[in-house]
Amino acid sequence: MNANFLQTPISYLKGVGPNRADTLGSELNIYTYLDLLHLFPNRYLDKTSYYKINQLQSSGADVQVLGKITHIKTVEQKRGKRLVATFIDETGQMELVWFRGHKWIRENLKINEPYVVFGRATRYGSVFSMPHPEMELLSEHEKNLKIAMQPIYPSTEKLSSKGVTNRVIGKMMQQLFLESKGNFPESLSKKIRDELKLISKSEALINIHFPKNQELLAKAQFRLKFEELFYVQLQLISKKLIRKQKIKGLPFETVGNYFNTFFAEHIPFELTKAQKRVIKEIRNDMGSNAQMNRLLQGDVGSGKTIVALMCMLLALDNGFQSCLMAPTEILANQHFNGLKELLGTMDVNIALLTGSTKKSIRTIIHEQLESGTLHILVGTHAVLEDKVQFKNLGLAVIDEQHRFGVAQRSKLWHKNKIPPHILVMTATPIPRTLAMSLYGDLDISIIDELPPGRKPIKTVHRFDSNRLKVFRFMKDEIKKGRQVYIVYPLIQESEALDYKDLMDGYESISRDFPPTEYQISIVHGKMKPKDKDYEMARFVKGETQLMVATTVIEVGVNVPNASVMIIESAERFGLSQLHQLRGRVGRGAEQSFCILLTSHKLSEDAKTRLQTMVRTNDGFDIAEVDLKLRGPGDLMGTQQSGLLNLKIADIVKDNQILKTARYHAIQLLKNDPNLKKEENQMILRAYTKMMKQSSIWNYIS
Ligand code: ADP
Ligand code: MG
Repeated sequence: MNANFLQTPISYLKGVGPNRADTLGSELNIYTYLDLLHLFPNRYLDKTSYYKINQLQSSGADVQVLGKITHIKTVEQKRGKRLVATFIDETGQMELVWFRGHKWIRENLKINEPYVVFGRATRYGSVFSMPHPEMELLSEHEKNLKIAMQPIYPSTEKLSSKGVTNRVIGKMMQQLFLESKGNFPESLSKKIRDELKLISKSEALINIHFPKNQELLAKAQFRLKFEELFYVQLQLISKKLIRKQKIKGLPFETVGNYFNTFFAEHIPFELTKAQKRVIKEIRNDMGSNAQMNRLLQGDVGSGKTIVALMCMLLALDNGFQSCLMAPTEILANQHFNGLKELLGTMDVNIALLTGSTKKSIRTIIHEQLESGTLHILVGTHAVLEDKVQFKNLGLAVIDEQHRFGVAQRSKLWHKNKIPPHILVMTATPIPRTLAMSLYGDLDISIIDELPPGRKPIKTVHRFDSNRLKVFRFMKDEIKKGRQVYIVYPLIQESEALDYKDLMDGYESISRDFPPTEYQISIVHGKMKPKDKDYEMARFVKGETQLMVATTVIEVGVNVPNASVMIIESAERFGLSQLHQLRGRVGRGAEQSFCILLTSHKLSEDAKTRLQTMVRTNDGFDIAEVDLKLRGPGDLMGTQQSGLLNLKIADIVKDNQILKTARYHAIQLLKNDPNLKKEENQMILRAYTKMMKQSSIWNYIS
C-alpha cells in the first residue's frame, strides 16, 4: 500500500462527495481516510437480539426491534403529512413514522410480515415512536447476517439529517477496506506483540469495524487501546528522560546556614513524617544535575507552605533566588505574610509583587531582583512579566497549579539562563495512577498526612427549609468566639445571576445577623483587589464574625479561628470544589463544621457528591469518586496532557491497560533509549509521526 494512502482526502472515497465530506469534517473531524479508519464504534449492536417493545427506554440510543406492522395511516398536520405505521410485538405496540417518501413506503411495506426495525425510539405520551427506521424483513435480515455485531458509530443530529446514517458510515468503511485491501502498517514491535499476545494492526482494525465474533472484538479493542495508551506514555516518559539528560539543572549541593538556622531556631512545630520525606525527595532532586520538575500533592492543610519555604532556603544556601507564585492576590498576600512570620528575625530579604503593587515599590523590587539582593519574591501572575528579571532565579514554586497553564510554566523556564527548578503545589488530589499518566513527565511527591492534633471536620447536609436551625447553630458558634464562612456558587456563564444570589443572601444574612451584634465581611469577584483585601483583612483579624463570599476564597485562605463553613446551593458545586472549600475550616484547635445547604431537588450525581462529602474527609478518596462521576475530561490538566483526545481508550475504565502500557513504554526506553534498534523502527516511525502532530512537545524545547 502506498504510504500516503491514508492521507487521501475523504472526498476521494467512493460514495463521499464534497457535500458529505464537508459534513464529515465539521461534525466528526473526519478529513482523511485515516480519520475515518480511526472513527471507532461507540458500541455494537447484537444483530441476533431484539428489544421488546415494553423494554424500550427514552435513552436516545438506537435499538433493534422485531415485530409486525398491523396497519398504516396518513396523519395530516399543519406542517405537512406524516405516515404512521403501527408496529407490534408480543409485549406491546409502537409507531414507525415517516415524514417523506410516503408513496414508496406505502407500496413496499408488507402488513403482518415479521420485520426487523432499527432506529432511535422516543416516547410521546405513553407510546414510543421511531422516525425513519432502517427496516428489513426478518427473512432478509437473517440472510444478511454476515456479522452478528453491528458497529454503532458516533453520530450527530446534523449527520443523520443529511443522510449520513450509521448504515452509510458502515458502507464508507467497507469501501475504505476494499480500497486498502484491509492492509495497514504495523506500529508495534514484534516483541511487544508477542509478549502481550496482541493481534496485528490490520486484524485489529478489521475486527473493530467488522467484528467476526465477540472474542476477536475484545482482542481488537485491547490491541487498539493498548497502542493508544502506549504512545501517550512513550511521549510523556521520553520527554521526562530527555529533560533529565539534556536539560542541565542547577545543582544545589549545599545545605547551609539558612536552611539549618531555620530548622534549628525558627521552625514553629515538628514537621510531619510526610513533610520530612517530601523535603528529602526535593533536596535529592535539586541536588542532582538535572532540572527538577516536581508536582507536590497534599490535601488542604497538609502543610505545603513550609515545605516550599525550606526549599527556597536551600536555594538561598546555594546562592540563588526563588519565587513563589499564587493564583490570586489574596493568596499571594497571605503567603507573603505567612512566610515573613515564619522567617522571623532571619536575614532573608522577601518582597511581594502583585498587580496592585505601587510603582515606586515595583521599581525597587526590580532593582533588587536584578542586583540579587532580593532573595525571595512572592507574587501573582505579575511575576511573569518580562520586566521582572532575576539575577539568578534558582527555584520557582507555583501554588495551586490548576490555575496556571503550560505557557506560564514555560515563561518561568526562561527567567534564567539555566532553567530554574520548578515545584508545583496542588491541593487537588488526583489518584496516584492517574497522576502518573497525566503528569508522566513530572516527578511527584505526596504529603499524605495531616499535622497532628487536627480534629476531623464534621460535615452535614441540610435542606434550605432548615435554614433557621442552621442560623441558630451559627449564632451559638459565634458566641463561643468562632467565625463563619458562607459561600455562594459562582458559575461564570451567569455572572449577573450569581452576583444577585450573593447579594440577596447577604441581605438576608444581614437581617438575621443584625449589625448591632454582628459584623459581616463580604468578598466577591467584582470587587477591587484593594477592597477585597480590606474585607479579608477584617475577617483575618477577627473584626468580623461572618464572611459572605463567592468561591474567590476557595484557594488557600487561612483563618484558623474560622470553624464553620456554610455552603449555599451546595448541589451546584463539584466535589473537588466542595472539598477545597471545606478545607478553609478545621485549621485551628477547635472542632469545625461544614454544612451543605441544598434545595430538595437533587440529581443522582448531586446526591452522590453530598453523601461523599458527609462520609469522608480524605481528599484522595473524594478524588476517586469525582473521577468516576465526571470522567477524566474535567480533571485539571487533562486538557494539556493529550489524554482528552483519546479515540478508543478511557483512562479510568482502562486503567489496567494503561499501567501495562506505561510499563512497556518504560521497558522499551530502558532497552533502547533512542529507538535505534532495528526491531523498534516501526515504533520510531509511528512515534515521529505523532510528535510532528503533537503540541505536547512544545514547551520543553
Ligand atoms: P496547605 O498544604 O493547605 O497549603 P498550609 O501550608 O497552609 O497547608 O498549612 C496549614 C496550617 O498547618 C498552617 O497554619 C501551618 O502553619 C500548619 N502546619 C503545617 N505543618 C505543620 C506541622 N508539621 N505541625 C503543625 N502545624 C503545621
Ligand atoms: Mg496552601
